[in-house]
Amino acid sequence: MNNFQYSRVNNPSSALAELAKKPNAKLLAGGTNLIDLMKYGVMAPDRLIDINQLPYNEVVKSNGMLHIGSTVRNSIASANPLVLQHQPLLSQAMLSGASAQLRNKATMGGNLLQRTRCPYFYDTSAPCNKRTPGTGCSALAGYNRMHAIFGASDSCIAVNPSDMNVALVALDAIIVVTGPKGERKINMADFHRLPGNNPELDSTLDKREIITVISIPDHKLSKTTYLKVRDRTSYAFALVSVAVALEMEGAVIKDIRLAMGGVAHKPWRLLSAEQLLKGKIASVANFKMAAAIAMEGAKAYQHNAFKLKLAPNSILQALKTASGIKA
Ligand SMILES: Cc1cc2nc3c(=O)[nH]c(=O)nc-3n(C[C@H](O)[C@H](O)[C@H](O)COP(=O)(O)OP(=O)(O)OC[C@H]3O[C@@H](n4cnc5c(N)ncnc54)[C@H](O)[C@@H]3O)c2cc1C
Ligand code: SF4
Repeated sequence: MNNFQYSRVNNPSSALAELAKKPNAKLLAGGTNLIDLMKYGVMAPDRLIDINQLPYNEVVKSNGMLHIGSTVRNSIASANPLVLQHQPLLSQAMLSGASAQLRNKATMGGNLLQRTRCPYFYDTSAPCNKRTPGTGCSALAGYNRMHAIFGASDSCIAVNPSDMNVALVALDAIIVVTGPKGERKINMADFHRLPGNNPELDSTLDKREIITVISIPDHKLSKTTYLKVRDRTSYAFALVSVAVALEMEGAVIKDIRLAMGGVAHKPWRLLSAEQLLKGKIASVANFKMAAAIAMEGAKAYQHNAFKLKLAPNSILQALKTASGIKA
C-alpha cells in the first residue's frame, strides 16, 4: 500500500475545502471497498478524508419522501423502522448484500460508489481500461462469467456489483450531493454511467462533490421482492438480481417498478417490461411476456451466455413471488 495522509473532518465545508485542495484525495466512509482497493494497489489516493463525523447519519421522513443520510451504515438503514415501513424493497436488497460484519461498516454513500468486482480490475498486472484508461479490456476475450449482457462497450463489459443500487433505481431515488457549486440532485437512473469510451468513470458525480442524502419518494408499491441469484447463499455478489415493487388492485397490476442487477455497468431499470405490465392481470403468461421484452438487446460473451436464460427466469420468479402467484 502507498503512503497516504489521513484527516478527519467534522463539517461539510472543511470536507469540500480539503477535496478542492487535494485532487488526488478520496473520501473515507466505511472503508470496506476503498481500503481493499488500496491494498491491491488499484487505487492510490495521497489523502483520505474521513467523513464519518459529518452530519449525514440520520433517517428522516419529510415532504413525502424518506431521506437517508450518506454515512448511515447499511445494517442501520436496513433495520430502520421508517425504511421497513415505507421502503421494504431497499431493506431486502441491502440485507442480501455482503455479510453482517461488512454491512455494519458499509455506508449508503460508499455502497453507491463501490467499484466493480471484475477480477481483471483487481489484478494490476492485467490490462484494464477502467483501472488504467487506454490499456485494453482483459475481460473481452478472458473469463467473463460475471460480466454484462446489457449496455456494455468494447472498452469495458464490467457490471455494477451493488444490491442496494438495484432497489434504489427501481424506487426512483434521488441522490443529493454538495460541491463547490452548492447542492444538486441527481436522479438515481442518471447517477451511474454506461462504460462507453470512459469506463474509468463509474458515476456522474464530480470528484469534488460529496453525497449527502439519498431521498426516496413515497409510493403505494407495497408488494416487494428482491431476488438475488448467486454462486453461494451468502457472501457472494449477484450473478443476476431482480427488484420488484408492485401496487395491486385485486388481480390487476396498478403500478410496478422493475430493475435488474449483475447485468450492466449500472443498475438496469426495465421500463418496457413495466409498461407492458401496467394495468394487466398478474399472470404467468403476462410475466413471461414482460421477461421476454426485458431481454431485448441483451448480448452475451463467451462465459456468461447462461445469463440470457437466468435473467428472464429470475424476472418471472421475482414477479410471481411479489404478486403471490404460485403457478
Ligand atoms: C467480501 C465482500 C463482499 C461483499 N458483498 C457485497 C454484496 O453481495 N452486495 C453488495 O452490494 N455489496 C457487497 N460488498 C460491498 C460493500 O457493500 C461495499 O464495500 C460497501 O457498501 C462500501 O461502503 P463503504 O462505506 O465501506 O465505502 P468506502 O470503501 O469507504 O468508499 C467507497 C467509495 O465511495 C466513496 N464515498 C464514500 N462515501 C461517499 C460520500 N458520502 N460521497 C462521495 N463519495 C463517497 C469513497 O471515496 C470510495 O471511493 C461486499 C464487500 C466485500 C469486501
Ligand atoms: S471489463 Fe472493465 S473492469 Fe473488467 S477488465 Fe475490462 S475494462 Fe477492466
